[in-house]
Amino acid sequence: MFLSLKHYFKSEKGVTSPQISYDVAIVGGGIVGLATSRELILRHPNLSFILVEKEKELSLHQSGHNSGVIHSGIYYTPGSLKARLCVRGATLAYEYCDKKGLPYKKCGKLIVAVEQEEIPRLKALYERGLKNNVRDMSMVDAKGIREREPFCRGIMAIDSPYTGIVDWRMVALRYGQDFEEAGGRIVTEFEVNDISMATESPEGSTEGMKYPIVIRDTKGEEVRSRFVLTCGGLYSDRLSQISGCSREPRIVPFRGDYLVLKPEKHYLVKGNIYPVPDPRFPFLGVHFTPRMDGNVWLGPNAVLAFKREGYKLFDFNARDMVDALSFRGPAGVRAQALDRAGNLVDDFVFDGGVGDVGSRVLHVRNAPSPAATSSLSIAEMVADEVEKRFSL
Ligand SMILES: Cc1cc2nc3c(=O)[nH]c(=O)nc-3n(C[C@H](O)[C@H](O)[C@H](O)COP(=O)(O)OP(=O)(O)OC[C@H]3O[C@@H](n4cnc5c(N)ncnc54)[C@H](O)[C@@H]3O)c2cc1C
Repeated sequence: MFLSLKHYFKSEKGVTSPQISYDVAIVGGGIVGLATSRELILRHPNLSFILVEKEKELSLHQSGHNSGVIHSGIYYTPGSLKARLCVRGATLAYEYCDKKGLPYKKCGKLIVAVEQEEIPRLKALYERGLKNNVRDMSMVDAKGIREREPFCRGIMAIDSPYTGIVDWRMVALRYGQDFEEAGGRIVTEFEVNDISMATESPEGSTEGMKYPIVIRDTKGEEVRSRFVLTCGGLYSDRLSQISGCSREPRIVPFRGDYLVLKPEKHYLVKGNIYPVPDPRFPFLGVHFTPRMDGNVWLGPNAVLAFKREGYKLFDFNARDMVDALSFRGPAGVRAQALDRAGNLVDDFVFDGGVGDVGSRVLHVRNAPSPAATSSLSIAEMVADEVEKRFSL
């Protein structure tokens, strides 16, 4: 049960207090913030933690608007954080779902080459997967493709049976439940708009300046803490900026729209079917993805979004195909970081700052796909970093 701060202040020990202090405050209730809060409190049950989220509910943005794929780790540059954290994260995600009884389907995935000129890129991708230690991968020919996906035609494919699907929002909410059960506080409708050093100790406090960071929301409510971790997704650059840290890399929102296959066409697709990625584009390409509710989505495309959390369709140009096969489905908006020179930042980025506030803050700056798959391994890594920087 997630409470607004007002409610929480009133209910705790029956006292209405203008401030409550915590060892660590986490900003952002997406899957990354929730997984990391969970990891931190499980490691440090004697410390106090609060997670604040601007929406009424948790994980309504990227963590609630994605393809729902448990990626196996094929695509990412060997040695990168993405490669390491995705491969470990997928294993941890399956183990977690098994332990908590959360439903998933290990329905597999084919990355299919349909033109001869795609074969070298497909083979290079396969080599990458091997270097990344992706489990159970193999190359299949046209016959192998038909055996796995009877209605798919191609000349060669990577078969990844370890790839699966899950409802990532459900997983994120379960992380939140673990956090609360371990004694963590979750407060919703708390939109942080200032993170700064306190100038005086809280009124009536006997603890002096033990909790020197003040986190304020847009309604003027405050939380105090010793340390802060921000996991702001589409707003990670702004959260960094308001704490006096660098705004670079900046976030550029890319909207991805999905089509939903008509139910009578569901039999056409059994597992995930992806194209060979085109190196000219940053994302994985439009793909067929079965959903946990039995639907099949086709997407996402990637267009620059005019609003960070804007999910409405603005422009769309495949109407003929829509009419024939499917109807318009949901959309998601990706937080894609851009460096100072305007290049897309490919890997995950975590950093802090300097000065009084900067030395007490850690920002998750860039956590694009596959950060849902990697959430538990990101949590391990960020928790290590929090322990190191803040000497927890
Ligand atoms: C279209 C699409 C498809 C994807 N497909 C996959 C996939 O199949 N598999 C996979 O592994 N990954 C996928 N991803 C990536 C994955 O969904 C994201 O990487 C992941 O959800 C990021 O989680 P997050 O917690 O960093 O961000 P978010 O889920 O966006 O959470 C950030 C939270 O911070 C809150 N917040 C922001 N500012 C403030 C503030 N000032 N005060 C308080 N709270 C604040 C927001 O309200 C939000 O709840 C996909 C992403 C998209 C968009």
